[in-house]
Formats: sequence, C-alpha cells, structure tokens
Amino acid sequence: MHNISDIRLFMLDMDGTFYLGNDIIPGSLEFIQAVKDSGRDYLFLTNNSSHNALHYVKKLHNMGLDVDRSKILTSGEATASYVKHAYPGLKPYVLGNDFLIEELREAGIEPVKDNADYVIAGFDTTLDYAKMTRVCDYIRAGLPYIATHPDFNCPTETGFIPDIGAIMAFIEASTGRKADLIIGKPYRGIVDAALERTGLRVQDLAMVGDRLYTDIETGNRHGMTSILVMSGETTPEMLAESDIKPHLRYDKLADMIPLLKS
Ligand SMILES: [Mg+2]
Repeated sequence: MHNISDIRLFMLDMDGTFYLGNDIIPGSLEFIQAVKDSGRDYLFLTNNSSHNALHYVKKLHNMGLDVDRSKILTSGEATASYVKHAYPGLKPYVLGNDFLIEELREAGIEPVKDNADYVIAGFDTTLDYAKMTRVCDYIRAGLPYIATHPDFNCPTETGFIPDIGAIMAFIEASTGRKADLIIGKPYRGIVDAALERTGLRVQDLAMVGDRLYTDIETGNRHGMTSILVMSGETTPEMLAESDIKPHLRYDKLADMIPLLKS
C-alpha cells in the first residue's frame, strides 16, 4: 500500500507539475511549505540537460520559491555523478551545451575533443554537422556511449524542439548503435543520484509528475510511490488508455496538503 504519510521526500517534476511554462500552478508554493512543515523534504528533478541547476534556481525564484541549487537535480548532474564512479580518470567527448560541460567540470570530469575514452550525449542546442560527425566516429569505433536522458522532444513556449532522443536516432541511423546507458527519467541513473544526494532509501521516496512514461514509470520501475498530477500533460483519457498507472493521483500538488498533516 502506498500512503502519503510514509513518504519522507517528494521528487518533483517541474513543468506541468510545479509550474506550466512560466506560470506557477496555484497552490504549489503552499505545497512546498506544507512538506517542510511536516518534517519532510523535496527535490526537483528534470531531464532537461540543456540548462543547469542555477537556471532553475532563478526560474523558481521568479515564481516566489527560494531554493538552494542542491534542491534541483538535472539529468546532467546525475550523469556526472554516474560517470565519475563508472569511468574514474577517463575523459569524455560531450555533445552538450556549455551548461552540461560546466556541470561535468564541477564534478571533476574534463571533456575533450580528441582521444576521448567515452561519449556523453546530452541535449545540445549548438549541435552542428562537425560535432555529429565526430560523435558518430567515436561511437562507430565502439566507445562506451552514455546519454543524459531519453526524451525525443522538448516543449518550449513556441512548440516542440528536437531533444536528445532525436539526436540518438540520428546517431543510430549512422552507426547502428543505441546508447549503452541512459541516465534520466525513467531510468535508474537519476534515481541513484537522488539517493546519493539525499541519503534516503527508494521506499522513502515518491516520484510526482504529470507524465506517465517518464515520471510515473520512474516511480513504478524503481520501487517508489508514483503520484500523478493532472495539471500538465496527462488527460483522464490518456490515463485510462495507458498501461502505466500511478499509485496515487491528484489534480494538483496542493491537493496533497491536507494529507501531509496526518
Ligand atoms: Mg512534466
């Protein structure tokens, strides 16, 4: 049985869960306050590796929530945490924006252009043909190939833009290889990074989000409580048709506030 009262830490998706685009979802701030007042904790989780944690600190600040960057876990940081253990001292070739490169450097990982030992593929909005050629050369040569997250598209104010999933499909068409490991939701890597950061066990955590195949799948697959909020992407029809079912379901974060008092 999954109960709100057993949860020590809420892992929160952002877009569609805490805010919608640039607008906070009503009651989100009150939910965070209620989580804190009840002695529980929270961690924002995002698959988007084209921005760093500081970008989200600023975005949340503009919505009235002051958080330390340790309260935000990006797939880029989770990737840094994974490769630091998996490939100590080795150097990656990285597809990614400067934010991702910086996040890796902060973790002591030095990206290189030549003589790389492995490949990290992230969401790179500065991608060009020379980079694609280089990364395909490395992957064709058999280097370990890690991707930050699986999303095919990234929602923006003006519609979808191609994300890393689409870049990986390009790489696969050229090299015949899929990524050896994907870190972001719904995969294990980002969960391990969250456990390392919080010191908690999976059964203490809830994954809260608006998307069935990333957020809810993350909770279900890795032994957490999965909580769907209907404030974003998922409609009642999509939920009825999907094989992926959340343990708990609310219209929005604020609907959990009364349950935190018990
Ligand atoms: Mg979302």
